[in-house]
Amino acid sequence: MIKVHIGVDDVDSINGGCTTHYAVKLAWMLYSRGVKFLDYPNIVRLNPAIPWKTRGNGAVALRILVESEDSINDIWELASSTLDEYSGVFRDSKKQPGLILHIGDIPWFFKFIAEKALYDLVPLELVDRLLVKSNSTRVYSPSGRRGLIGAVAAVGCTMETSDHTYELLAYRKQEYWGSRRCVSEGSVIAVDREYGDYLILNYDYEYGRVLITPRGPDPVLLGLRGEDPIVLLEAYKKLEICEPVDYTCLFRTNQHTDAHLHSVDSICSIRPYMCVKVNGIVSSRPIRIPGGHVVFKICSGGCCIDVAAYEPTKSFRDIVEKLREGDLVEVMGCTRPPSSRHGLTINLEKIVVREVARVVEYVNPKCPRCGGTMESVGRGKGFRCRRCGYRDQYASKTPVYVERDLKPGIYEPPRIAFKHLMKPISRFGREKRVFSGVLVDGFIQRVG
Ligand code: ATP
Repeated sequence: MIKVHIGVDDVDSINGGCTTHYAVKLAWMLYSRGVKFLDYPNIVRLNPAIPWKTRGNGAVALRILVESEDSINDIWELASSTLDEYSGVFRDSKKQPGLILHIGDIPWFFKFIAEKALYDLVPLELVDRLLVKSNSTRVYSPSGRRGLIGAVAAVGCTMETSDHTYELLAYRKQEYWGSRRCVSEGSVIAVDREYGDYLILNYDYEYGRVLITPRGPDPVLLGLRGEDPIVLLEAYKKLEICEPVDYTCLFRTNQHTDAHLHSVDSICSIRPYMCVKVNGIVSSRPIRIPGGHVVFKICSGGCCIDVAAYEPTKSFRDIVEKLREGDLVEVMGCTRPPSSRHGLTINLEKIVVREVARVVEYVNPKCPRCGGTMESVGRGKGFRCRRCGYRDQYASKTPVYVERDLKPGIYEPPRIAFKHLMKPISRFGREKRVFSGVLVDGFIQRVG
C-alpha cells in the first residue's frame, strides 16, 4: 500500500463555494469507492494576515492509502477533473487554485513551508523552486499558481505531534446557499451547556450570538468545533436543524491552537504580515481613536510597535485601556503594514500582563493650616489654599501612587471576536500532542 497526500487551496466555485467544500466532495468520492483514509481530512488554517485570502485562509489535506500506481493515476485524474468542474473556467485572477498529490513520506521542505506559512509571507517562487525538486509530487494549477503555497503547507502540516482540534462541518444543499441558515439557537445553547469544554466557542453568552453558523453565502451550514470527534458526532445529532443537509465531514485541524503565533525576542525582528508573540514595555498610554479602536505602543530591544485592540473586540478594549506606561506585557497577534495614518501595528488577539508598573501622579498639596486643597498661583510662584488663603511660595505638587485597576494575568476578547486560529484561554493546558490515527465510523457522510 502506498501513502498519498492530496493538498488543495484557493478553490472557489463559480457559484461561490470554497476549498473545504471541494475537498469534501472529493473525499466523499474516494471514501465511497473504498479508499482508506489515514487521517480525517485536515483543515489547515494559515497566516490570517495574508492580504489575498478570502475568508479564513484555510487549506485542506487528504491523507489516504492507495493500492497501486494505477489507482494513484485514477485519483489524480479524479481530483483534477473535479477541481475543473467545481470551479468552472477561471478568469478571475484573484483565485489561483492549487492542487498537489504527493506520494510517500513527506519531504522536509513541505514541513518548512507549512511552519512558515502559518506566521509569515511565503514567496511563491520558493514553493515553485522546491516543488521542481520533488519527483514524487504532482502539481495542478489551472490558472495562476498561488494556491500551491497553501496546498503544500496543508500537506506539510501533519499535526502528528502538535496540538489540534476537530470541526464537524455540515454543508447546505446548493438551492439554500445565500439564504438564512436554519439552526435553532436554543439547541446550540443546550448542546453547548451539555458538552462544555469538549466543544469550542459555540455560543457567545455575553453578546447572545450563535457562533457555529457562518454569515456569508458559502455552502457551509455550520461548523461544530471541539476536542473529540465522537463527542462532536453526538453533539451534532442533538442540534435542531431545519433545512436539508448535503454532506457532513469531521475534520482534524489546527484551529484554536495559536499555531500561528511565532515567538520573537525583540520587536525589531517583526515584519509586516507576521503573526507574533512578543514581550515589551508599554510606552504610551492607550487611547481610544475614532472608530472605537484602542491603540498603544510597546517597545523592546530598542524598537517600538503600535498595538491595536480593534472595535470588534468589544469589552476587551476596556481592559486594554487600563494599561499604563511602564507595564510589562506580552502581546499576541498579526501585524498590519504601516500606512500614512499609523505605524506597523499588531492586531491584538490576547495579552499577558506580566508586571503592572507603579504609576505616580502629581497632585496639588494639602494646606498645612486648614487641610484644604491648595492651588497653583502661577509658574514658580508657589501655592495658595482655596479655603483659608494660606500661601506658600516654596510648596510643590506631591507625588501619589495611583491605585491600578489591572492585575497581572492573561486577557482575551469575547468569544464573538475569535478568529479561526485563536486559542481560547480555556484550552490552555488541554493541548493534544498525539493523534492515534484511528478514525470514527461515519466521519464523512452524504446525507442528501
Ligand atoms: P476560502 O475560505 O474560500 O477557501 P481563504 O480565506 O481560505 O478562502 P484562499 O482563497 O484560499 O483564502 O486564498 C489564500 C491564498 O493565499 C491561497 O492562494 C494560498 O496559497 C495563499 N497563502 C496562504 N498562506 C500564505 C502565506 N503564508 N504566504 C503566502 N501566500 C499564502
